[in-house]
Amino acid sequence: MHPFEYHRAATVADAAHAKGRFLAGGTNLVDLMKANVERPARVVDINALPLNAIEDVAGGLRIGALARMSDVAAHPLVQTRFPAIAQALLASASPQLRNAASIGGNLMQRTRCPYFRELIWTPCNKRDPGSGCSALDGDNRMQAVLGTSDHCIALHQSDLAVAVAALDGVLTLRGPGGERAVNAVDFHLLPGKTPQIEHDLKPGELIVSLFLPDAPHAQRSAYLKVRDRTSYEFALASAAVGLQLDNGVIRAARVALGGVGTKPWRSRFAEAALVGQVPSERLFRAAAEAEMKSAKGHGMNDYKIELAKRTLVRALGDLVGGAA
Ligand SMILES: Cc1cc2nc3c(=O)[nH]c(=O)nc-3n(C[C@H](O)[C@H](O)[C@H](O)COP(=O)(O)OP(=O)(O)OC[C@H]3O[C@@H](n4cnc5c(N)ncnc54)[C@H](O)[C@@H]3O)c2cc1C
Ligand code: SF4
Repeated sequence: MHPFEYHRAATVADAAHAKGRFLAGGTNLVDLMKANVERPARVVDINALPLNAIEDVAGGLRIGALARMSDVAAHPLVQTRFPAIAQALLASASPQLRNAASIGGNLMQRTRCPYFRELIWTPCNKRDPGSGCSALDGDNRMQAVLGTSDHCIALHQSDLAVAVAALDGVLTLRGPGGERAVNAVDFHLLPGKTPQIEHDLKPGELIVSLFLPDAPHAQRSAYLKVRDRTSYEFALASAAVGLQLDNGVIRAARVALGGVGTKPWRSRFAEAALVGQVPSERLFRAAAEAEMKSAKGHGMNDYKIELAKRTLVRALGDLVGGAA
C-alpha cells in the first residue's frame, strides 16, 4: 500500500475505534444490526480503501482484505498454489453472497448460534456476558465439540478460516498503533470465560491483508465440507488438508478442522501422527482419533465427533488418491 493509503487506512481505523464497526460486504454485520445483536456507535464503510488486490509477492500470495470471496476463489494463482483456499471459498454461502462478501469480513464473521442471534433466546454469554449459555443444555446440534468451555460452545463458522489456519496464513493488521502481523491460527481466540472476545484485533484495528506462504503441501491441498445440503449451508464437519509426499512417505502435513471448533481448529495431533508415515486409511484414522481425543459433545452434537473423524479420513484419502 502507498504511504498515503496507509495513512487513510489508519484514519479510518481511528474513526471506528472501540464502539465502531467496519463495513465491508455487510452480509454479516447488517444482518446482526437488523436483529439488534450488533449495535455499533459508528459504522465506517471501508470499501473505498485499495485493499482488494491479489498479488504474487516474494514467498507467496498477498490477498487484500477487501478482495471478494468470488474473485479469490476464481483466481488462477489461488486455484493452482492454494487449492484448499479456493475450494473452501466455493463451498461457502451462495454465489450472490460470495460476490458481495470480503475476505476480511469472512474471517471476522460471528457465530450462527441461534441463542446469540435471537434476542428472545436468553441467556447468552457472548451477547450478554455473565448471563449464561442457553446452548449447553439446549439446541446445540450445530455447535462445537472442540475448544469449548462452560461459558460458550459456539461454533466458528468460517470455511475460509479453516483452510487459512491449515496453510499457515498470516494476517497484516493496521490500526492507530501501527502495523503488525499475526499468524491466522492465533488470531481467533478460545471462548474460555470471555466468549465475547473472539479475536486478537485491538480497537480500531483493520485487517489489511492475508498472506499465504507457498509450500509443496499448500499446492497439494484440499478442503472437504460435510453439511445438511450441498449448497448454501454451514459445515457439520470439514477438513482442510495439505500433504507433501516424498517417495511415498509423508514429509509434511497440514490439517485443520471446521464445523467442530470454537475457532478454526488447527490439528497438530493429527499432523504429528501423519508425518514420516506411509499413507493408509488406518494411518488417517489414527490421526483423526488422535485429534478428536479431547472432543466433548453436549448431547445433540455428539454425532460430530465421529463425523469429523470420518471427514478427515475421507479428505486425506481423496488427497492421496490411489496411494492410500
Ligand atoms: C445465508 C448465509 C450463508 C452463509 N454461508 C456461509 C458458509 O457456508 N461458509 C462461510 O464461511 N460463510 C458463510 N456465510 C457468511 C458469509 O461468508 C459472511 O457473511 C461474509 O463472509 C462476511 O463478509 P462481509 O464482507 O460481508 O463482512 P461484513 O458483514 O461487512 O463484516 C463482518 C464483520 O467483519 C468486520 N470486518 C469486515 N472487514 C474487516 C476488516 N478488513 N478488518 C476488520 N474487521 C472487518 C465488520 O466490522 C463486521 O464486524 C453465510 C452468510 C449468509 C448470510
Ligand atoms: S454457545 Fe455461546 S453464543 Fe451460543 S448461547 Fe452459549 S454463550 Fe451464547
